[in-house]
Amino acid sequence: MDKVKEGHRLLSVVVSVYNEEKALKEFYRETRQVLDHLSWDYELIFVNDGSQDDSLSALEELSRQDSRVKLIHFSRNFGHEAAMIAGLDYSLGDGVVCMDADLQHPPECIPEIIRCFEEGYQVINMVRTKNADAGLVKNITSLTFYRLINAISNVHFEPNASDFFALDRQVVQVLKSSYREKVRFLRGYVQNVGFQKTTLSYEARPRVAGKSKYSLKKLFVFSINTILCFSNMPLKLGIYTGMFSAFLGTVVMIYTLSTRKGAPSGYATIVVLLCFMFAMLFIIVGIIGEYIAILFTELKDRPIYIVAKTRNMGEE
Ligand code: UDP
Ligand code: MG
Repeated sequence: MDKVKEGHRLLSVVVSVYNEEKALKEFYRETRQVLDHLSWDYELIFVNDGSQDDSLSALEELSRQDSRVKLIHFSRNFGHEAAMIAGLDYSLGDGVVCMDADLQHPPECIPEIIRCFEEGYQVINMVRTKNADAGLVKNITSLTFYRLINAISNVHFEPNASDFFALDRQVVQVLKSSYREKVRFLRGYVQNVGFQKTTLSYEARPRVAGKSKYSLKKLFVFSINTILCFSNMPLKLGIYTGMFSAFLGTVVMIYTLSTRKGAPSGYATIVVLLCFMFAMLFIIVGIIGEYIAILFTELKDRPIYIVAKTRNMGEE
């Protein structure tokens, strides 16, 4: 049953897993059904991102039954992006597809992805037409975030893109060698590396089991980091605020001198202005601090992920 299709191209499917014990069996069953009917050979790389439930034993069981199921087990939780990066690092395929383990990214799209690879496309972005699980708040915050980042950064981000994408070997190689940032936005890189790109749409299904690991707070931190990574605009706020204050100061000075009434007794005005100016100053210092924190993280150069063990990778 696990016969390797000699001479065929290889597809690597990278799946990040964090506490998905309830979804894994169904994911494997459905995905396997699709993969078995492809003209390409395949490997299924599960990256267990330090799950605290029984995902690891479920994955080990699958890797024992099926030699095409490969497993990378992290020493702790490193986050979804780190898991995808590890999957890309270990993948051997001519094409690589990254997807979630919760079946929100439908495996039925894979044959279409293969068709795009065969037509010569190198980056295939999957765009959601509908997200069955996202509530109103998530939709509005996501839209605001994309509006903002597209306005202040010089690269373009597709608003409905997801962590469901496919890359060919050449692009994977570029990501592996040149995009090893610690504070990053993988989806942003995928959309902006160039190469032959195309977009496919899909309807996100509801999660098959379990619940989303991304809280609004996590998404907020993630969004701030992304803005800082892709735009220098916040750093320029200091200059703009300074120029604006200088202009305002000059106007007030000219007015005071020309009316020749001497200094007005505006205690409240002075206090309000002082508070306002100090607020601006501290916000700008805070923004600079955020950039320094990123610099510090990059400088320390700690690993993006730590692998505790692997299965079916041919070296254990
Ligand atoms: N995930 C992960 N590490 C984490 C959080 C999530 O590997 O720290 C995985 C998770 O198991 C899932 C995928 O990343 O396969 C996307 O997560 P989730 O479905 O919770 O996000 P959503 O689809 O709700 O945005
Ligand atoms: Mg999901």
